[in-house]
Formats: sequence, structure tokens, C-alpha cells
Amino acid sequence: MNGDFVVAYIALGSNLGDRKAQLDLAIDLLKQTEGIEVSAVSSYLNTAPVGYIDQPDFLNAVVELQTTLSPYELLGHCNGIEQKMKRKRLVHWGPRTIDLDILLYGNLVLHEEKLTIPHPRMLEREFVMQPLSEIAPAALYPPKNQTISELYQEIFC
Ligand code: AMP
Repeated sequence: MNGDFVVAYIALGSNLGDRKAQLDLAIDLLKQTEGIEVSAVSSYLNTAPVGYIDQPDFLNAVVELQTTLSPYELLGHCNGIEQKMKRKRLVHWGPRTIDLDILLYGNLVLHEEKLTIPHPRMLEREFVMQPLSEIAPAALYPPKNQTISELYQEIFC
């Protein structure tokens, strides 16, 4: 990638249809996006649903990107991929074909109506922290100035 780029992390989850094919497709669509290079992909992790639990298990993953896009441009592309893949969401936190959340965007801390970075619930989600610490153990969680690996160990081990 030429010029200045930021390293960002995105969490993906699917629990409808062919979940692996949907994670693969969403990652391919990210790879095809101008201004995004996917530099690492975690293992795919099968997880029981949280929140609304009467729904199928999820398949979750985290990807690392190098991007020249702004946080809102990145959010726009994530939402575009969700829409392209005809995300169906009838129940809040219910089944969805694909969900993309921005976890970290460099060392940015942002609290705005449409975008909060780091993702506000990432630390409480093992299905996010486990794959994130697999590919980015040394990444910093800016609000606490601790690494992902330290936080994962502290919270879940
Ligand atoms: P959800 O339906 O739970 O995936 O929420 C999607 C909406 O949450 C998006 O349209 C965003 O405006 C908002 N949002 C706030 N912070 C984030 C974030 N870090 N990553 C993705 N979406 C976010």
C-alpha cells in the first residue's frame, strides 16, 4: 500500500446459511475495496450466541487491514458489504448473514453517535478478543494503553 495507511481491525460474524462461505465472501469483498489491504486473517471460531440466545451458533473471525480510508469511509464500506450480502436482521442481536464491526483504527479513540472506536463491547466479547489476540497480540488498546494480549489474558484466562 502506498502513502500513509492506518492499521485497523474488523470483527466478522455470521450465523445464517453457509457461515464459512459468508465470512470468506465478506473478506474477499474487503480485499477488493480500493484503499484496503487485508494483511492478516484469524482462525474461524464457532461460538454460542450471546444476548438473544435462541438462534444458531456464530462463526466469528477478525481481520487486520492496512487502509488509507478514513474511519467513516471504512464504516461505509463495512455497511455496504453487509447490505450487499442481504443482511437480514429481524431481532436485535438476532440471526444475521454477516456482521462487520470496526474494533480498532490505529490509536484513534472516537465517541460519536454513528461510530465508536474502539468498539464499545469488544473487551467483553471472547469471540472478538480471542481471534484478535491471535493475529494482533501486541496491538494497543488505546483507552487503557495495554496490549490486546494483556487484556485478553486478564479478562478471559
Ligand atoms: P449493528 O447493527 O449492531 O452492527 O450496528 C451497526 C451500526 O452501529 C452502524 O451503522 C454504525 O453506525 C454503528 N457503530 C458504532 N460504532 C461502530 C463500530 N465501531 N463498528 C461498526 N459499527 C458501529
